[in-house]
Amino acid sequence: MTDIERLRHSASHVLATAILKIWPEAQFAAGPPVENGFYYDVDLPHRISPDDFEKIEAEMRKEIKADHPFERMEVSRDEALELGEKGRLAALSERPEPSKFKLDIIENIPPDEKISLYRSGDFIDLCAGPHVKCTGEIGAFKVTSVASAYYKGDEKNPQLQRVYGTAFKTKKELDDYFAMLEEAKKRDHRKLGRELELFVFDDDVGPGLPMFLPRGAVIAEELEKLAKETEFAAGYQRVRTPHIARESLYKKSGHLPYYAESMFPPMELEEARLGERDHGTPASLYYLKAMNCPHHHKLFAAVPRSYRDLPLRFAEYGTCYRYEKSGELFGLMRVRSLQMNDAHIYMTPEQFEAEFNAVNEMYLNYFKLFGIEKYLMRFSTHDPSKLGEKFVDEPELWKQTEEMTRNVLKSSGINYVEVPSEAAFYGPKIDVQAWSVIGREFSIATNQVDFAQPRRLNLVYKDRDNIDKTPICIHRAPLGTHERFIGFLIEHYAGNFPLWLSPEQVRILTIGDDPKLMDYARSILHELRGHQVRAEIDESPDKINGKIQRAEQMKVHTMFVIGKRDMDADAVSVRIHGKGNLGAKPRNEAIGDIVQSIRERRG
Ligand SMILES: [Zn+2]
Ligand SMILES: [Zn+2]
Repeated sequence: MTDIERLRHSASHVLATAILKIWPEAQFAAGPPVENGFYYDVDLPHRISPDDFEKIEAEMRKEIKADHPFERMEVSRDEALELGEKGRLAALSERPEPSKFKLDIIENIPPDEKISLYRSGDFIDLCAGPHVKCTGEIGAFKVTSVASAYYKGDEKNPQLQRVYGTAFKTKKELDDYFAMLEEAKKRDHRKLGRELELFVFDDDVGPGLPMFLPRGAVIAEELEKLAKETEFAAGYQRVRTPHIARESLYKKSGHLPYYAESMFPPMELEEARLGERDHGTPASLYYLKAMNCPHHHKLFAAVPRSYRDLPLRFAEYGTCYRYEKSGELFGLMRVRSLQMNDAHIYMTPEQFEAEFNAVNEMYLNYFKLFGIEKYLMRFSTHDPSKLGEKFVDEPELWKQTEEMTRNVLKSSGINYVEVPSEAAFYGPKIDVQAWSVIGREFSIATNQVDFAQPRRLNLVYKDRDNIDKTPICIHRAPLGTHERFIGFLIEHYAGNFPLWLSPEQVRILTIGDDPKLMDYARSILHELRGHQVRAEIDESPDKINGKIQRAEQMKVHTMFVIGKRDMDADAVSVRIHGKGNLGAKPRNEAIGDIVQSIRERRG
């Protein structure tokens, strides 16, 4: 448990205490910390509603003010059962009814495990801990909602009321959290995606399969352009591979059977059953690719390689399909079709440090460009006791690559934490978490070291002594997938994209519809488009205020407002979304500024 989880779990004891002060007959089940808060499941004839929250919070405040210490007591199974029978568990005193859920929990504790109770004030609970020292350490809290939940999540069990709350060390952190939630609601990428006509889902296409409208496709294209330019400068080469492959490829790579659950079911091809064979393998099953690596590995193997060819960097914005459970789909954040900013770098062990550093450098440059100030790299390593099951059985290679990775992370001063036992099957991995400007957390990219797949697929290069060696491979995707990264950017910018990413960069609005004025507007439109600027012209008969309002609603970055006086001076009045009128500028200067700013990916 992290410190904040410990504090929140402790707050769940205080919540139960408060509920018992009001309804002493309440029966409690489980009260764990959860993301952003905690809950306690309670069985109670009275239906708790938001109207009760104030009353509950008032009792909680008294408990916190009393600053009761959390005292741990170890008891025998019989003692615990006896207290449960007397209704004394998750209670303030003995009660006529036994503590039924706690008795059930005791029955399920393995015989060799210690049983512990925690006391704070009059409240005694069956709990493994840990807790904060005293209730007074819970600095700020709030009861947030109530929902129903089945005991142990099983609908055959009784239905309980799940009371949620959240807690922080300080009042300021609590206030910031609620302000962030408020802001996040306004920025929700699903809401903005609809309003700004960026992307849609359609039942006939299928859940988790987003389609980008022209305004959303523009953002994907701009990101792709950025990636291509950046990768070209860093010595990457682009490749192109199909969306499907035979089952044999994924068996060789090891994705089948280990990754089968995350892949769409296979397609069986008709002609294959008529006896089509390829190198003796029955060629009946094809899979939609869930990752690009096996295809790229095949391209590595397609040409004889020598150490002089390395490092070799293959990049592709590859489209993959993953079978996410329907309950886990979420807007653009969790989808079933995804286009990944993918690349695989093949190298000798001596080249690892420089390559890995260059990849990290690329991540940091992107963060700077997008104004991502807070990020964390989670370095996941293997667990030696799970070699052969969860992790490929290569103890020496694990040690080497983890050490190399750790050294590079340490010496580069990157913000990282090490998480044991969460590596990928084939090597240590780094997940990159980033926080949007309002503090919402996203996991947007991974960076993995792979020593197993190249070996499984027999990738080799000739070293200096003409001996076959297996290359190390880095999988990297700094911009993650288009889907998730665009979802992140929508919320990060609240839909107010910088000029270079804006779906509509300039809208020309005329004051009136005098034919000469319209001709002037159209000539500006053509000039902008000639410079590849995404410009439109509002030809509606509306008044200028209506036109401005509509452009502001669609968060069009720059408006050129043109009246007769502007035309006579060969000028435009520049208006920036959210910033207002900047005044008149000579036409050439206004257009030149736009083009320059887009080229430099500024503002
Ligand atoms: Zn506890
Ligand atoms: Zn890969």
